[in-house]
Amino acid sequence: MVAPGFIDAHTHSDTAAIDAVDAVDGAEGRLDTAQVFASVVQGVTTEIAGNCGHSVFPGRYSGLAALGRVHSAIGRVNHLASLIGHGTVRAAVVGYSARAASASEITRMAAVVDEALAAGAVGFSTGLIYTPGSYADTAEVTALARVAARHGKPYVTHLRDEMAGVEGALEEAIAIARNSGAALHVSHHKTAGKFAWGRTEVTLARLAGLRDAGMDVTCDVYPYTAGSTGLGAMLPPWAHDGGPARLLARLREAGQRDLLRKAIAEGVPGWENTVGNGGWDRIVVAGAPRHAGYQGRTIADLAGAAGVDALDLVAELLLAEDGDVTIISHSMREDDVRRVLAAPFAMIGSDGVPKPGLPHPRWAGSFARVLGHYAREEGLFGLPEAVRKMTGAPAARFGLTDRGVLRDGAHADLVVFDAARISDRATFAEPLLPPTGVRLVVVGGAVVVRDGTVLRDRVATGAGPGRVLAC
Ligand SMILES: [Zn+2]
Repeated sequence: MVAPGFIDAHTHSDTAAIDAVDAVDGAEGRLDTAQVFASVVQGVTTEIAGNCGHSVFPGRYSGLAALGRVHSAIGRVNHLASLIGHGTVRAAVVGYSARAASASEITRMAAVVDEALAAGAVGFSTGLIYTPGSYADTAEVTALARVAARHGKPYVTHLRDEMAGVEGALEEAIAIARNSGAALHVSHHKTAGKFAWGRTEVTLARLAGLRDAGMDVTCDVYPYTAGSTGLGAMLPPWAHDGGPARLLARLREAGQRDLLRKAIAEGVPGWENTVGNGGWDRIVVAGAPRHAGYQGRTIADLAGAAGVDALDLVAELLLAEDGDVTIISHSMREDDVRRVLAAPFAMIGSDGVPKPGLPHPRWAGSFARVLGHYAREEGLFGLPEAVRKMTGAPAARFGLTDRGVLRDGAHADLVVFDAARISDRATFAEPLLPPTGVRLVVVGGAVVVRDGTVLRDRVATGAGPGRVLAC
């Protein structure tokens, strides 16, 4: 089969390629090239970054053009496009305080979002479970989504709650889209945690109804029943008030730990509370560089083995890792995942987080898994529909003109795969195993993958054909 190169609608790979080159240079990089190439060896020729409210500009990079220059210098293997992230903009303008933004701060944030979208960012993203984005009220987000609407670009959101409160959080997103005039794209749609299992029947019907009524609404989804995020996101928003250093200071205090235990046990209004919706036995440590032996084990298991309370183990782990611990959360049900995958307005986004340790296999497996497991083996949809969900649909959503299609004059981003053989091999135990069945990947007219192998000489030398796209 020859298809347009796949477009990953949702990644956190913003700096993965840069971090890998830093590692080669012996600097403070932490990724190896297998982690960077896990996407392109599946046939992904464009990655959409800047998701969940987190873009690497303004901040680590001044803007999209600056990010583009760095990626150009290292020679990316495939293309990257980015959203402008609300949390990043809020951190730059308001800081990490748990408070509403003032009118003048909202005006300044709007100017930053406007500049990024004018420079070619493909939409405006929020991550309303993550601080400092979670401190924003609906009106603030609406004001900023209005800027996206002016540019004809979508409002892309990690909902404020994907668990017990998912329907209310979806209504907030719908209201933001309606009142701003922006198209709505729901990120990694799911109804997770035991209180929300089965509710995709309601949420998908709601989105379908809006589409029938003429609203531009889409979503992305990854083909797994587990999610992945930072361990810190298991703690309530107030724990993060003031920023990362303040979080660590709180974790050192016994009294604060008791308050955290109570918050998780009883909940906090407006807070998703993953652990309260599941339990520490569903949270697996994925990445903790100084605790390699913890990786692949649940918090409940580790706490039991150490004879300590789970929250104390979490606090000590976060302190020892300077707050940077990645987890996998086994929080979803298969019928919900299948229902979202099959929705005609759902496209494929890996939500990949290329990190060391035992990252979620979705980064290295999502595209081959949809084509192999869900389309060919399970017959959830046909091959053409599976391909559309990873090519034409995301290209249209993010305004990637002349990509996601095979036609004269379009960009030569292509993948050649064996439809009878393509399969994912990445697992939770071996998360970076490349897929089988991908023959050839072409980016911008240059062959970058042949028989499943990246032609490294073309990309490790600064001559890779991938670019940061401005749209
Ligand atoms: Zn997210």
